[in-house]
Amino acid sequence: MHEFRYVGNRLHCERVAIDKLVQQHGTPLYVYSQSTVEDHYQKLDHALAPLDHLICFAMKANSNQAVMRTLADCGSGFDTVSEGELRRVIAAGGDPRQCVFAGVGKTDHEIEYALRKGIYSFNVESEPELVRINHVAARLGKIAPVAVRVNPNVDAGTHAKITTGTYDNKFGIAFEQVAGVYARAAKLKHLRLRGIQMHIGSQLTAVKPFELAVRKMLPLVTRLAAKHPFEFFSIGGGLGIIYKTALASAGPDWWQTAAARDILTPAKYADTLVPLLKPLGLRILVEPGRFIVGNAGVLITRVEYVKRTGKKNFVIVDAAMNDLIRPAFYDSFHEIVPLRKKGGALVASDVVGPVCESGDYFCKDRPLPKVGEGDHLALLSAGAYGFVMASNYNTRALAAEVLVKGNKSAVVRPRQAIESIWAGERPAPWQQ
Ligand SMILES: *Cc1c(COP(=O)(O)O)cnc(C)c1O
Repeated sequence: MHEFRYVGNRLHCERVAIDKLVQQHGTPLYVYSQSTVEDHYQKLDHALAPLDHLICFAMKANSNQAVMRTLADCGSGFDTVSEGELRRVIAAGGDPRQCVFAGVGKTDHEIEYALRKGIYSFNVESEPELVRINHVAARLGKIAPVAVRVNPNVDAGTHAKITTGTYDNKFGIAFEQVAGVYARAAKLKHLRLRGIQMHIGSQLTAVKPFELAVRKMLPLVTRLAAKHPFEFFSIGGGLGIIYKTALASAGPDWWQTAAARDILTPAKYADTLVPLLKPLGLRILVEPGRFIVGNAGVLITRVEYVKRTGKKNFVIVDAAMNDLIRPAFYDSFHEIVPLRKKGGALVASDVVGPVCESGDYFCKDRPLPKVGEGDHLALLSAGAYGFVMASNYNTRALAAEVLVKGNKSAVVRPRQAIESIWAGERPAPWQQ
Protein backbone atom coordinates (compact mmCIF):
# COMPACT_ATOMS: atom_id res chain seq x y z
CA MET A 1 0.00 0.00 0.00
CA HIS A 2 1.11 3.54 -0.54
CA GLU A 3 -0.51 6.94 -0.42
CA PHE A 4 0.28 8.42 -3.83
CA ARG A 5 -2.72 8.67 -6.17
CA TYR A 6 -4.67 11.02 -8.37
CA VAL A 7 -7.54 12.87 -6.80
CA GLY A 8 -9.33 14.41 -9.76
CA ASN A 9 -6.44 14.99 -12.13
CA ARG A 10 -3.89 16.05 -9.51
CA LEU A 11 -1.37 13.67 -7.97
CA HIS A 12 -1.66 13.62 -4.21
CA CYS A 13 0.52 12.39 -1.38
CA GLU A 14 -1.99 11.41 1.30
CA ARG A 15 -4.37 14.42 1.35
CA VAL A 16 -1.89 16.95 0.01
CA ALA A 17 -1.85 17.97 -3.69
CA ILE A 18 1.78 17.68 -4.74
CA ASP A 19 1.60 20.63 -7.16
CA LYS A 20 1.04 22.84 -4.09
CA LEU A 21 4.24 21.55 -2.55
CA VAL A 22 6.04 22.28 -5.81
CA GLN A 23 4.76 25.87 -5.79
CA GLN A 24 6.06 26.33 -2.25
CA HIS A 25 9.33 24.46 -2.39
CA GLY A 26 10.38 24.16 -6.03
CA THR A 27 11.99 21.19 -7.72
CA PRO A 28 13.70 18.73 -7.68
CA LEU A 29 11.71 17.75 -4.62
CA TYR A 30 11.51 14.50 -2.67
CA VAL A 31 8.09 13.91 -1.08
CA TYR A 32 7.58 11.19 1.53
CA SER A 33 4.36 9.78 2.96
CA GLN A 34 4.63 9.15 6.69
CA SER A 35 1.50 6.96 6.74
CA THR A 36 3.01 4.72 4.06
CA VAL A 37 6.20 4.23 6.08
CA GLU A 38 4.14 3.41 9.17
CA ASP A 39 1.86 1.07 7.27
CA HIS A 40 4.75 -0.92 5.81
CA TYR A 41 6.45 -1.22 9.17
CA GLN A 42 3.22 -2.34 10.83
CA LYS A 43 2.35 -4.84 8.08
CA LEU A 44 5.68 -6.56 8.54
CA ASP A 45 5.58 -6.30 12.32
CA HIS A 46 2.13 -7.85 12.35
CA ALA A 47 3.11 -10.67 9.97
CA LEU A 48 6.05 -11.59 12.22
CA ALA A 49 3.98 -11.38 15.42
CA PRO A 50 4.14 -15.17 16.07
CA LEU A 51 7.91 -14.81 16.50
CA ASP A 52 9.96 -13.00 19.12
CA HIS A 53 11.27 -10.50 16.59
CA LEU A 54 12.94 -7.16 16.04
CA ILE A 55 12.73 -5.12 12.84
CA CYS A 56 15.97 -3.23 12.28
CA PHE A 57 15.28 -0.73 9.50
CA ALA A 58 18.25 -0.68 7.10
CA MET A 59 18.70 3.06 7.30
CA LYS A 60 21.09 3.24 4.39
CA ALA A 61 17.89 3.15 2.27
CA ASN A 62 16.62 6.47 3.69
CA SER A 63 18.16 8.18 6.68
CA ASN A 64 16.31 11.48 6.76
CA GLN A 65 15.73 12.36 10.41
CA ALA A 66 11.96 12.65 9.94
CA VAL A 67 11.76 9.18 8.36
CA MET A 68 13.97 7.81 11.13
CA ARG A 69 11.82 9.46 13.78
CA THR A 70 8.71 7.92 12.23
CA LEU A 71 10.26 4.48 12.53
CA ALA A 72 11.74 5.04 15.99
CA ASP A 73 8.23 6.02 17.14
CA CYS A 74 6.94 2.74 15.67
CA GLY A 75 9.46 0.89 17.88
CA SER A 76 11.85 0.02 15.08
CA GLY A 77 15.51 -0.77 15.60
CA PHE A 78 18.09 0.15 12.98
CA ASP A 79 20.62 -1.64 10.82
CA THR A 80 23.60 0.73 10.61
CA VAL A 81 26.77 0.56 8.54
CA SER A 82 28.88 3.45 9.83
CA GLU A 83 29.52 5.66 12.84
CA GLY A 84 27.68 8.40 10.97
CA GLU A 85 24.56 6.27 10.72
CA LEU A 86 24.70 5.37 14.40
CA ARG A 87 25.01 9.06 15.26
CA ARG A 88 21.98 9.74 13.06
CA VAL A 89 19.96 7.12 14.96
CA ILE A 90 20.75 8.82 18.24
CA ALA A 91 20.00 12.27 16.78
CA ALA A 92 16.61 10.98 15.56
CA GLY A 93 15.71 9.62 19.00
CA GLY A 94 16.35 5.95 18.16
CA ASP A 95 17.78 3.48 20.66
CA PRO A 96 21.35 2.24 20.05
CA ARG A 97 20.49 -0.88 22.06
CA GLN A 98 18.18 -1.82 19.19
CA CYS A 99 20.87 -1.28 16.56
CA VAL A 100 23.05 -3.70 14.68
CA PHE A 101 26.24 -2.57 12.99
CA ALA A 102 27.03 -4.21 9.64
CA GLY A 103 29.61 -3.68 6.92
CA VAL A 104 32.90 -5.23 5.81
CA GLY A 105 35.23 -2.38 6.79
CA LYS A 106 34.50 -1.18 10.34
CA THR A 107 37.34 0.95 11.69
CA ASP A 108 38.72 0.94 15.27
CA HIS A 109 37.09 4.30 15.81
CA GLU A 110 33.69 3.06 14.66
CA ILE A 111 33.93 -0.09 16.76
CA GLU A 112 34.80 1.97 19.84
CA TYR A 113 31.92 4.37 19.25
CA ALA A 114 29.43 1.52 18.82
CA LEU A 115 30.69 -0.23 21.96
CA ARG A 116 30.40 2.94 24.02
CA LYS A 117 26.83 3.41 22.81
CA GLY A 118 25.91 -0.17 23.74
CA ILE A 119 24.65 -1.46 20.39
CA TYR A 120 22.76 -4.73 20.24
CA SER A 121 25.24 -6.54 18.01
CA PHE A 122 28.00 -6.22 15.48
CA ASN A 123 27.33 -8.21 12.32
CA VAL A 124 30.84 -9.41 11.60
CA GLU A 125 31.99 -10.06 8.06
CA SER A 126 35.47 -11.60 8.52
CA GLU A 127 37.75 -13.30 11.03
CA PRO A 128 40.23 -10.40 11.21
CA GLU A 129 37.27 -8.19 12.12
CA LEU A 130 36.40 -10.49 15.06
CA VAL A 131 39.98 -10.18 16.30
CA ARG A 132 39.84 -6.41 15.87
CA ILE A 133 36.55 -6.05 17.77
CA ASN A 134 37.90 -8.26 20.58
CA HIS A 135 40.97 -6.07 20.77
CA VAL A 136 39.04 -2.78 20.93
CA ALA A 137 36.64 -4.24 23.52
CA ALA A 138 39.58 -5.40 25.65
CA ARG A 139 41.08 -1.93 25.57
CA LEU A 140 37.76 -0.45 26.76
CA GLY A 141 37.18 -3.21 29.32
CA LYS A 142 33.97 -4.22 27.56
CA ILE A 143 32.39 -7.35 26.14
CA ALA A 144 31.34 -6.89 22.51
CA PRO A 145 28.14 -8.59 21.30
CA VAL A 146 28.75 -10.16 17.89
CA ALA A 147 27.04 -12.22 15.22
CA VAL A 148 28.83 -13.63 12.22
CA ARG A 149 27.37 -12.89 8.84
CA VAL A 150 27.08 -16.15 7.00
CA ASN A 151 27.22 -16.23 3.24
CA PRO A 152 24.82 -19.09 2.49
CA ASN A 153 25.85 -19.17 -1.19
CA VAL A 154 22.28 -18.90 -2.43
CA ASP A 155 21.58 -16.98 -5.61
CA ALA A 156 18.89 -14.43 -4.90
CA GLY A 157 18.18 -14.12 -8.62
CA THR A 158 18.32 -10.34 -8.48
CA HIS A 159 20.50 -7.67 -10.14
CA ALA A 160 24.28 -8.37 -10.02
CA LYS A 161 24.96 -5.16 -8.07
CA ILE A 162 22.51 -6.10 -5.32
CA THR A 163 23.21 -9.82 -4.97
CA THR A 164 25.19 -10.43 -1.82
CA GLY A 165 24.67 -14.05 -0.85
CA THR A 166 26.98 -15.94 -3.20
CA TYR A 167 30.72 -16.64 -3.05
CA ASP A 168 31.36 -14.16 -5.87
CA ASN A 169 30.96 -11.18 -3.59
CA LYS A 170 32.72 -9.64 -0.63
CA PHE A 171 30.05 -10.19 2.01
CA GLY A 172 30.00 -12.58 4.94
CA ILE A 173 31.89 -15.76 5.80
CA ALA A 174 31.52 -18.86 3.65
CA PHE A 175 28.93 -21.28 5.00
CA GLU A 176 31.46 -24.14 5.32
CA GLN A 177 33.84 -22.04 7.44
CA VAL A 178 31.34 -20.65 9.92
CA ALA A 179 31.50 -23.41 12.57
CA GLY A 180 35.29 -23.07 12.77
CA VAL A 181 35.03 -19.31 13.06
CA TYR A 182 32.56 -19.59 15.97
CA ALA A 183 34.82 -22.08 17.73
CA ARG A 184 37.76 -19.69 17.48
CA ALA A 185 35.64 -16.64 18.35
CA ALA A 186 34.43 -18.39 21.51
CA LYS A 187 38.02 -18.28 22.79
CA LEU A 188 38.21 -14.50 22.43
CA LYS A 189 37.53 -13.23 25.93
CA HIS A 190 35.99 -9.90 25.05
CA LEU A 191 33.39 -11.22 22.63
CA ARG A 192 29.91 -12.46 23.38
CA LEU A 193 28.49 -14.62 20.59
CA ARG A 194 25.03 -13.19 20.59
CA GLY A 195 23.67 -14.42 17.30
CA ILE A 196 24.10 -15.28 13.67
CA GLN A 197 23.18 -13.32 10.56
CA MET A 198 22.63 -13.63 6.83
CA HIS A 199 21.54 -11.29 4.03
CA ILE A 200 21.27 -12.67 0.51
CA GLY A 201 20.44 -9.63 -1.60
CA SER A 202 18.01 -6.88 -2.36
CA GLN A 203 14.76 -6.42 -4.30
CA LEU A 204 13.73 -10.08 -4.00
CA THR A 205 10.20 -10.51 -5.28
CA ALA A 206 9.79 -14.20 -4.46
CA VAL A 207 10.00 -15.97 -1.13
CA LYS A 208 11.86 -18.96 -2.58
CA PRO A 209 15.45 -17.65 -2.22
CA PHE A 210 14.71 -16.67 1.40
CA GLU A 211 13.25 -20.10 2.01
CA LEU A 212 16.24 -21.87 0.46
CA ALA A 213 18.68 -19.80 2.47
CA VAL A 214 16.80 -20.28 5.74
CA ARG A 215 16.46 -24.03 5.15
CA LYS A 216 20.17 -24.23 4.46
CA MET A 217 20.99 -22.26 7.60
CA LEU A 218 18.67 -24.10 10.01
CA PRO A 219 20.91 -27.09 10.87
CA LEU A 220 23.93 -24.85 11.27
CA VAL A 221 22.07 -22.36 13.45
CA THR A 222 20.64 -25.17 15.59
CA ARG A 223 24.07 -26.74 16.05
CA LEU A 224 25.84 -23.48 16.85
CA ALA A 225 23.08 -22.23 19.14
CA ALA A 226 23.42 -25.41 21.19
CA LYS A 227 27.16 -24.87 21.58
CA HIS A 228 27.16 -21.14 22.16
CA PRO A 229 24.23 -19.60 24.00
CA PHE A 230 22.80 -17.56 21.14
CA GLU A 231 20.01 -15.10 21.35
CA PHE A 232 19.15 -14.24 17.76
CA PHE A 233 19.13 -15.20 14.10
CA SER A 234 18.97 -12.30 11.66
CA ILE A 235 17.61 -13.21 8.26
CA GLY A 236 18.60 -9.87 6.73
CA GLY A 237 16.57 -7.62 4.50
CA GLY A 238 15.88 -7.72 0.80
CA LEU A 239 12.09 -7.78 0.49
CA GLY A 240 11.27 -6.38 -2.92
CA ILE A 241 8.71 -3.77 -3.85
CA ILE A 242 6.62 -2.92 -6.90
CA TYR A 243 8.30 -0.59 -9.35
CA LYS A 244 6.48 -1.31 -12.61
CA THR A 245 2.88 -0.73 -11.62
CA ALA A 246 3.51 1.49 -8.66
CA LEU A 247 0.64 3.88 -9.26
CA ALA A 248 -1.87 1.06 -9.62
CA SER A 249 -0.81 -0.31 -6.26
CA ALA A 250 -2.07 2.64 -4.20
CA GLY A 251 -4.72 2.32 -1.54
CA PRO A 252 -5.30 0.31 1.60
CA ASP A 253 -6.90 -2.72 -0.02
CA TRP A 254 -4.19 -3.17 -2.57
CA TRP A 255 -2.63 -6.17 -0.84
CA GLN A 256 -5.76 -8.14 -1.64
CA THR A 257 -5.72 -7.42 -5.40
CA ALA A 258 -4.51 -9.60 -8.25
CA ALA A 259 -1.37 -7.51 -8.83
CA ALA A 260 -0.27 -8.42 -5.32
CA ARG A 261 0.23 -11.99 -6.55
CA ASP A 262 3.43 -10.85 -8.29
CA ILE A 263 4.99 -9.33 -5.24
CA LEU A 264 6.36 -10.57 -1.98
CA THR A 265 3.82 -9.37 0.57
CA PRO A 266 4.68 -9.52 4.27
CA ALA A 267 2.00 -12.20 4.65
CA LYS A 268 3.58 -14.46 2.02
CA TYR A 269 7.03 -13.88 3.51
CA ALA A 270 5.81 -14.75 6.98
CA ASP A 271 3.60 -17.70 5.92
CA THR A 272 6.66 -19.46 4.52
CA LEU A 273 9.33 -18.37 6.97
CA VAL A 274 7.59 -18.24 10.35
CA PRO A 275 6.92 -22.03 10.52
CA LEU A 276 10.58 -22.68 9.67
CA LEU A 277 11.94 -20.20 12.20
CA LYS A 278 9.56 -20.66 15.11
CA PRO A 279 10.99 -24.03 16.29
CA LEU A 280 14.44 -22.47 16.72
CA GLY A 281 13.17 -20.62 19.76
CA LEU A 282 15.48 -17.73 18.90
CA ARG A 283 14.74 -14.07 18.51
CA ILE A 284 14.44 -13.31 14.79
CA LEU A 285 15.83 -10.07 13.38
CA VAL A 286 14.90 -8.68 9.98
CA GLU A 287 16.66 -5.77 8.27
CA PRO A 288 14.34 -4.39 5.61
CA GLY A 289 15.22 -1.10 3.93
CA ARG A 290 13.55 -0.82 0.54
CA PHE A 291 10.34 -2.55 1.65
CA ILE A 292 9.68 0.05 4.35
CA VAL A 293 10.45 3.23 2.42
CA GLY A 294 10.72 2.45 -1.30
CA ASN A 295 7.11 3.09 -2.28
CA ALA A 296 6.80 5.81 0.38
CA GLY A 297 8.67 8.48 -1.59
CA VAL A 298 8.58 10.19 -4.97
CA LEU A 299 10.93 12.60 -6.71
CA ILE A 300 9.23 15.53 -8.42
CA THR A 301 10.93 17.22 -11.34
CA ARG A 302 10.10 20.04 -13.77
CA VAL A 303 10.24 19.69 -17.53
CA GLU A 304 12.71 22.29 -18.77
CA TYR A 305 12.84 21.48 -22.47
CA VAL A 306 11.48 19.02 -24.96
CA LYS A 307 13.97 18.27 -27.69
CA ARG A 308 12.95 16.27 -30.73
CA THR A 309 15.69 14.79 -32.83
CA GLY A 310 15.06 12.69 -35.93
CA LYS A 311 14.89 9.56 -33.81
CA LYS A 312 14.03 10.61 -30.30
CA ASN A 313 11.81 12.66 -28.08
CA PHE A 314 14.01 13.91 -25.22
CA VAL A 315 12.22 15.27 -22.19
CA ILE A 316 14.90 17.26 -20.36
CA VAL A 317 14.07 17.69 -16.67
CA ASP A 318 15.65 19.53 -13.75
CA ALA A 319 16.39 16.39 -11.73
CA ALA A 320 19.42 14.32 -12.64
CA MET A 321 21.49 11.30 -11.78
CA ASN A 322 22.98 13.25 -8.88
CA ASP A 323 19.46 13.36 -7.33
CA LEU A 324 18.45 9.78 -8.13
CA ILE A 325 21.20 7.51 -9.38
CA ARG A 326 19.33 4.20 -9.49
CA PRO A 327 18.56 4.13 -13.23
CA ALA A 328 22.20 4.93 -14.08
CA PHE A 329 23.67 2.66 -11.42
CA TYR A 330 21.38 -0.38 -11.46
CA ASP A 331 19.41 0.04 -14.71
CA SER A 332 16.41 0.42 -12.48
CA PHE A 333 12.90 1.26 -13.53
CA HIS A 334 10.96 4.10 -11.96
CA GLU A 335 7.41 4.68 -13.09
CA ILE A 336 7.05 8.27 -14.34
CA VAL A 337 3.73 10.08 -14.25
CA PRO A 338 2.69 13.71 -14.74
CA LEU A 339 1.63 15.67 -11.66
CA ARG A 340 -1.47 16.67 -13.60
CA LYS A 341 -3.10 13.82 -15.42
CA LYS A 342 -2.99 14.17 -19.20
CA GLY A 343 -5.12 12.67 -21.93
CA GLY A 344 -4.11 12.06 -25.52
CA ALA A 345 -1.69 9.73 -27.24
CA LEU A 346 1.49 8.50 -25.62
CA VAL A 347 4.88 9.46 -27.07
CA ALA A 348 7.98 7.26 -26.78
CA SER A 349 10.23 9.48 -24.66
CA ASP A 350 13.65 9.58 -23.05
CA VAL A 351 13.48 11.47 -19.77
CA VAL A 352 16.96 12.84 -19.17
CA GLY A 353 18.70 15.15 -16.72
CA PRO A 354 21.07 18.04 -17.41
CA VAL A 355 24.25 16.31 -16.17
CA CYS A 356 27.08 15.81 -18.65
CA GLU A 357 26.94 12.00 -18.71
CA SER A 358 25.11 9.82 -21.18
CA GLY A 359 24.13 7.69 -18.17
CA ASP A 360 22.06 10.60 -16.92
CA TYR A 361 18.63 9.36 -17.88
CA PHE A 362 15.52 8.16 -16.04
CA CYS A 363 13.99 6.17 -18.89
CA LYS A 364 14.50 5.43 -22.56
CA ASP A 365 11.89 5.13 -25.30
CA ARG A 366 9.11 4.88 -22.78
CA PRO A 367 5.53 5.70 -23.86
CA LEU A 368 4.62 8.77 -21.81
CA PRO A 369 1.90 11.39 -22.04
CA LYS A 370 2.96 14.34 -24.13
CA VAL A 371 4.48 16.95 -21.82
CA GLY A 372 5.90 20.41 -22.38
CA GLU A 373 8.02 23.03 -20.71
CA GLY A 374 6.82 23.82 -17.19
CA ASP A 375 4.96 20.54 -16.68
CA HIS A 376 5.98 18.42 -13.73
CA LEU A 377 6.70 14.71 -13.54
CA ALA A 378 6.80 12.36 -10.56
CA LEU A 379 9.35 9.56 -10.44
CA LEU A 380 7.60 7.00 -8.27
CA SER A 381 9.06 4.55 -5.75
CA ALA A 382 12.01 6.82 -5.06
CA GLY A 383 11.89 6.57 -1.26
CA ALA A 384 14.69 3.99 -0.98
CA TYR A 385 18.25 4.52 -2.22
CA GLY A 386 17.16 7.89 -3.62
CA PHE A 387 18.17 10.98 -1.68
CA VAL A 388 20.73 9.00 0.37
CA MET A 389 22.76 8.39 -2.79
CA ALA A 390 22.50 11.99 -4.00
CA SER A 391 25.69 13.91 -4.66
CA ASN A 392 26.86 17.37 -5.62
CA TYR A 393 28.16 16.23 -9.00
CA ASN A 394 28.13 19.13 -11.46
CA THR A 395 27.91 21.41 -8.38
CA ARG A 396 24.20 20.76 -8.18
CA ALA A 397 22.54 21.43 -4.83
CA LEU A 398 20.93 18.55 -2.96
CA ALA A 399 17.15 18.49 -3.41
CA ALA A 400 14.70 19.52 -0.70
CA GLU A 401 12.76 16.81 1.17
CA VAL A 402 9.18 17.12 2.39
CA LEU A 403 7.26 14.83 4.73
CA VAL A 404 3.48 14.54 4.45
CA LYS A 405 1.08 13.19 7.06
CA GLY A 406 -2.64 13.44 6.31
CA ASN A 407 -3.25 17.03 5.21
CA LYS A 408 -0.04 18.32 6.80
CA SER A 409 3.32 18.79 5.14
CA ALA A 410 6.72 19.97 6.36
CA VAL A 411 10.13 20.54 4.86
CA VAL A 412 12.32 17.98 6.58
CA ARG A 413 15.43 19.08 4.76
CA PRO A 414 15.63 22.42 2.97
CA ARG A 415 17.17 22.66 -0.45
CA GLN A 416 20.92 22.95 -0.07
CA ALA A 417 22.30 26.47 -0.52
CA ILE A 418 24.58 26.51 -3.56
CA GLU A 419 27.45 28.31 -1.77
CA SER A 420 27.48 25.66 0.96
CA ILE A 421 28.63 23.11 -1.63
CA TRP A 422 32.15 24.56 -1.66
CA ALA A 423 32.04 26.31 1.72
CA GLY A 424 34.69 23.99 3.20
CA GLU A 425 37.08 24.45 0.29
CA ARG A 426 39.86 27.06 0.08
CA PRO A 427 42.98 27.79 -1.90
CA ALA A 428 46.21 26.24 -0.58
CA PRO A 429 48.34 28.70 1.47
CA TRP A 430 50.81 29.22 -1.40
CA GLN A 431 47.95 30.34 -3.65
CA GLN A 432 46.89 33.27 -1.46
C1 LIG B 1 21.36 -3.27 2.28
C2 LIG B 1 21.18 -4.24 3.37
C3 LIG B 1 19.91 -4.47 3.90
C4 LIG B 1 18.67 -3.84 3.36
O1 LIG B 1 18.39 -4.27 2.06
P1 LIG B 1 16.95 -3.97 1.43
O2 LIG B 1 16.98 -4.64 0.13
O3 LIG B 1 16.85 -2.48 1.29
O4 LIG B 1 15.93 -4.52 2.34
C5 LIG B 1 19.81 -5.33 4.97
N1 LIG B 1 20.90 -5.95 5.50
C6 LIG B 1 22.14 -5.75 4.99
C7 LIG B 1 23.28 -6.44 5.61
C8 LIG B 1 22.32 -4.90 3.91
O5 LIG B 1 23.54 -4.73 3.41
